[in-house]
Amino acid sequence: MNSLLREAELNEDGCVVTGTVQPRKLRFNGRQDRAYRFVYCVRNRLAANRDQVVRHRCHNRRCINPEHLTIGDRRDNLYDELDRRANGVDWAVL
Ligand SMILES: [Zn+2]
Repeated sequence: MNSLLREAELNEDGCVVTGTVQPRKLRFNGRQDRAYRFVYCVRNRLAANRDQVVRHRCHNRRCINPEHLTIGDRRDNLYDELDRRANGVDWAVL
């Protein structure tokens, strides 16, 4: 996890973004998952279950800054998505 954060870059919004276009994926616990989800779970010593999604408070899906990540259920994420659309930002759901 530390090497992941070290190779990422801090942008002007305080986001720690990985150098990939899509949200960074990696393999842990024998399956592939998104880097930000991994970072959140490690930082908070939590194993997120399938009904829980790791959300970005900053709405930057490439961001892996643990301070910008929060946990929610799928419904929260849907509300986030509607909120983003209402604000004219067209990003896909997690
Ligand atoms: Zn961020």
